[in-house]
Amino acid sequence: MAIKKIIDNVYQVSLGMVNCFIIDDDGLTLIDTGFQGSEKKIFEALSEIGNRPKDIKQIILTHLHPDHAGSAADIQKMLQIPVFAHETDAELLKKGICFREPMIRTPGFFPWLIFNLFMRNTPSTIKPVDPITTLQHDQLLPVLSGLRVIPTPGHSEGHISLLLEKEQVLIAGDICGNTGGLNYSILYEDPALAKQTLKEVAKYNFNIACFGHGNPLWEGANKKMADKFK
Ligand SMILES: [Zn+2]
Ligand SMILES: [Zn+2]
Repeated sequence: MAIKKIIDNVYQVSLGMVNCFIIDDDGLTLIDTGFQGSEKKIFEALSEIGNRPKDIKQIILTHLHPDHAGSAADIQKMLQIPVFAHETDAELLKKGICFREPMIRTPGFFPWLIFNLFMRNTPSTIKPVDPITTLQHDQLLPVLSGLRVIPTPGHSEGHISLLLEKEQVLIAGDICGNTGGLNYSILYEDPALAKQTLKEVAKYNFNIACFGHGNPLWEGANKKMADKFK
């Protein structure tokens, strides 16, 4: 199954290289959208939990990259629904720009390998996403019992993570990944800022963390992140 339950009403959908997330709460909130052309896979995953495309009421993007924002324009157009993102990344997404250069590769063999196998030829433009409703720092969105918008710059300047406070689930985006173990993402706009962000995020209260790439951390996730990224 492409869709995996994280907790009641929260699901991770594997789109191959990248995950998106669904929160089911009187309509569905779709967090990230995969590369361009991922809508069919997302809709098939929805059908596995008894939902249809028109049940999606809004899209939230963690950041501008094409593996997260790539299908946003098509899904928005098809369903006529709002898209939310941080202002800084939204400005570029409205123009169809999905990378802010330069991106700096994390040192080491694994990032080198993944970059050369999968990321070297990634498109730098996508269909423009417009309109976008911008999110405020620390805004509490009315999703389940409250979805907190946490600014997490470094991977991209306008990157956000989303925290279900009561449920203690963090949807982290690409601040780090958990592919073959918890580790830094392959690329950062600002590695030093990203490291600071990781330390700050780990201070929040969450038990489970989910990532754009790799598997969730199921237990004591904030402590594991604090230990890894100190
Ligand atoms: Zn990214
Ligand atoms: Zn990504």
